Amino acid sequence: MRFHSPFEGPWADPEAGLFSVRSGDWRQQRPVANGARCCRCGLCFLYCPTGCISDRVTHFEAELEFCKGCGLCVYICPAAAIAMRAEEGC
Ligand code: SF4
Ligand code: SF4
Repeated sequence: MRFHSPFEGPWADPEAGLFSVRSGDWRQQRPVANGARCCRCGLCFLYCPTGCISDRVTHFEAELEFCKGCGLCVYICPAAAIAMRAEEGC
C-alpha cells in the first residue's frame, strides 16, 4: 500500500498560490532519513505539519523545499529512522 495525499510534496500547483509557500526557506535543521531503518509505518507522513513527507516505496522522506525543520517526524518515528542535521550557515 502506498500513502497518498493531496498535499504530498510538492504540495500543489504554484500557480494556484495556496499551499505553495516554500517553507523550506525557514529551516535551520533538516531531517535525514535512514531508509534501511524505516518500517514504513507512515506516522511521519500523518504527523508532518507541512504535509511534505512522501512515500518513496522503500521508505518515507521529506521534500526539503517544503520541510520547515520542526523535527516532529524525528520525535514521532518509532524506528529512529530520521535524524536532524544542522543546515550549513545557520
Ligand atoms: S522536520 Fe517537520 S516539516 Fe520537516 S519533514 Fe519533519 S515533521 Fe515535516
Ligand atoms: S515514522 Fe519512521 S518508520 Fe515510520 S514511515 Fe516515517 S521514517 Fe519510516
